[in-house]
Amino acid sequence: MRIIIFGPPGAGKGTQASLISEEYDIPHLSTGNIFRSAIKNKTELGKEVKAILDAGDLVPDEKVVDLVEEELKNDKYEDGYILDGFPRTVVQAKAFDDLLKKNGETLTAFLQLQVPEQELIERILSRGEGRSDDTRDGVKKRLKVYREETEPVLEYYGEKGAVHKVDGTGSIEDIFNRITTILPDN
Ligand code: ADP
Repeated sequence: MRIIIFGPPGAGKGTQASLISEEYDIPHLSTGNIFRSAIKNKTELGKEVKAILDAGDLVPDEKVVDLVEEELKNDKYEDGYILDGFPRTVVQAKAFDDLLKKNGETLTAFLQLQVPEQELIERILSRGEGRSDDTRDGVKKRLKVYREETEPVLEYYGEKGAVHKVDGTGSIEDIFNRITTILPDN
């Protein structure tokens, strides 16, 4: 099963992706987590992207696409995965499509988590994960970048008729239950 979980910052992508990963026994690939861990470990990649994440900007497409392509070569992704935070631009979505085609694979589901904007801001400011980009200005910037760069990805997948909208409000369990009714039984 190959799944994309999509939505604005604060929509709960990471939380739901972890639950899906457990329930369906597929690895969770979060580009944001990869970047944060690289920054924490002061790797070459971390040094390259730190200022970008702190500013709430996007890491250049080529870097992200190369990273995901390399990561997906790992055997553990052979039977499927859940992508969280990728693709985040139409360029990334097209590159990912090409990658699937090249490997003769298809996407099982594209899940769009929907949460009202005011709730997104409140959630992020109260989640207290200590992320350096989780300030009021940081969140506003990421939401702006989301609307401008990331939302068009919805149209891209919408044209393929692949988007499943999921109400992202309510308890973590409620949201997860909505997701499991969409995904095929494993
Ligand atoms: P959130 O959705 O809460 O903003 P993420 O963990 O998904 O958090 O992403 C954090 C940051 O990592 C983004 O603001 C961006 O700088 C960078 N990033 C993550 N994924 C991508 C991607 N696919 N393309 C470009 N930048 C990315």
